[in-house]
Amino acid sequence: MAGKGSDSPAIGIDLGTTYSCVAVWKNKRIEIIPNDQGNRTTPSAVAFVDAELLIGDGAKNQAPMNSANTIFDAKRLIGRRFSDSKVQEDMKLWPFKVIKGLADTPKIVVTYKGQKKEFLAEEISSMILAKMKESAEVYLGKVVKNAVITVPAYFNDSQRQATKDAGTIAGLNVIRMINEPTAAAIAYGLDNTSDIVGKINVLVFDLGGGTFDVSIMTIEEGGIFEVKAVAGDTHLGGEDFDNRMVDHCVEEFKRRWNKDLTGNQRALGRLRFACEKAKRMLSCTTQTSIDLDSLHEGIDFSMKFNRAKFEELNMGSFNKCIETLETCLTDAKMKKSCVEQVILVGGSTRIPKVQHMLRDFFDDKELCKSVNPDEAVAYGAAVMAAKVSGISDKSVHDVALRDVTPLSLGVAVRGKLLSVVIPRNTSIPTSNSKYYYTTHDNQSVIPIEVYQGERSRCTDNHLLGEFSISGVPPAPKGATKVMVCFEIDINGILTVTASIISTGKMKKLVISNENGRLSKKEIEKMISDAEKYKFEDQEFKKKAKAYNALEDCIYTMKNTIKEHSVKKSVHHEILQVMKKALDETTKQLENNQAAPYAELHLKKLHLEFVCEPLFYV
Ligand code: ADP
Ligand code: MG
Repeated sequence: MAGKGSDSPAIGIDLGTTYSCVAVWKNKRIEIIPNDQGNRTTPSAVAFVDAELLIGDGAKNQAPMNSANTIFDAKRLIGRRFSDSKVQEDMKLWPFKVIKGLADTPKIVVTYKGQKKEFLAEEISSMILAKMKESAEVYLGKVVKNAVITVPAYFNDSQRQATKDAGTIAGLNVIRMINEPTAAAIAYGLDNTSDIVGKINVLVFDLGGGTFDVSIMTIEEGGIFEVKAVAGDTHLGGEDFDNRMVDHCVEEFKRRWNKDLTGNQRALGRLRFACEKAKRMLSCTTQTSIDLDSLHEGIDFSMKFNRAKFEELNMGSFNKCIETLETCLTDAKMKKSCVEQVILVGGSTRIPKVQHMLRDFFDDKELCKSVNPDEAVAYGAAVMAAKVSGISDKSVHDVALRDVTPLSLGVAVRGKLLSVVIPRNTSIPTSNSKYYYTTHDNQSVIPIEVYQGERSRCTDNHLLGEFSISGVPPAPKGATKVMVCFEIDINGILTVTASIISTGKMKKLVISNENGRLSKKEIEKMISDAEKYKFEDQEFKKKAKAYNALEDCIYTMKNTIKEHSVKKSVHHEILQVMKKALDETTKQLENNQAAPYAELHLKKLHLEFVCEPLFYV
């Protein structure tokens, strides 16, 4: 973490699928940093050209002429396996080559400086991050080290870790990674928790270049952001709109000149470039034109394009966005009237039709769009960066942003029950300890199994790791006390420590985010399972407790019978009856572990009745 007043400012980077954006806290406000071309967003593309490496606008501009060596969409590959079905699907669409590397890692193959070279997605992303870092350094006139990088809310641990690695390769110290919708909400000051009473529901509508993501979040007093539901389409965005415009132009060319453009890659590339520009124009004017000299076989191409035509061509996609939005609300079990803020994110939400449809859907609700939608994520990341690096200016509103544990964490105890040490939704960093006791006489080893989940039976949860602590001094059951401490740091790393109180012996297990934590989807499944099996879980818990209580009762009674004073004062024959009852119940327990709760409870009452005289001595 950067120190207070560090003179190397921390930047915020939105590493997008198609475009990236960088921002910084300067002159008491957030500034979006332009790149060397003067553009406020930079294409997330890298091109290998002869002896030169081009990143950003330079790479995008020459893409049609060098498609096999121009890499884009690295974000679709990062942190994924080659065999991932998503990767296999995307590969069919890419003009560059991807092969299977060691341990099923995808590798991108290019020709660079006359040789075949292989790159990991992390390396490509690191080149883009390095470009953003460089833009910031030029703009600030200072070396930049610290950065906050954003990732989609649905990214799993491996995708997050790989993105962080990309930052490290780029020479950045990644001080925090935050979710894109969270960053956007921060940009709109929705983290300004003094205004929040209880919870507010926020919907983030992110329509970018290649992907569409809707997230429903709640923001709670104290700056707790929780993503409730995500939905989206991994192949819906600005590039589809560009392609439809290109197709339309190709048809027009054919109609006018009876010539087919589709085989001319260079012409198609130039057309696509011009269409994207025209599309952007159509967000502020109702008509524009596309003019290209000598587009194909020496023919100049010029045509008018109006907003109505653009909307007609893309209506199918716009409708799909609204359908996806409805799915997300259903998943979050939320009525649209409960959404208090609608945030626009992503360059394509500048399209007036998209904004109209969204406003209509929310019954004329005002949308949050005072921050440029394609800059909102970087803006929020920069606010976070300023906050984390200790800038105490009042205008960096008080982002007390906290992450929470998505599921409860605990250990397995007697009867296969999960004993929760840190409950679900606890904000991190956090720590908590609980005491446990030995469950057998002279038990020398205590096993510690760490689980994550909401179910009563430990094995219905997700096993995160296990270890055992040995060398427990001989003692009767229940006499040795063990303290188990769970500690989660700011980066979500969990450390479990077990210590034997009487001897001070200690053992530790560290579980990082990467190894074995669950994905968002798995977490949601566990939470819904817990709801579904609530009754079954309660029954299991009741039964396990009754079983343990009966076992404890037998143990106590048997030990009491052995006591000298009891032997003297209780009649020998009565003691024999007691022993017999205890032995029988022990056998029954051994043979029939699955006895119902009522039976276990009755057995205990019976034993207590039979053995009652023991307690009158
Ligand atoms: P990413 O999806 O990579 O996060 P952005 O959110 O920056 O990227 O979105 C990029 C997309 O937004 C591109 O397809 C771009 O053409 C489109 N876009 C940018 N500005 C406008 C605009 N004014 N009108 C319509 N589309 C725009
Ligand atoms: Mg984006």
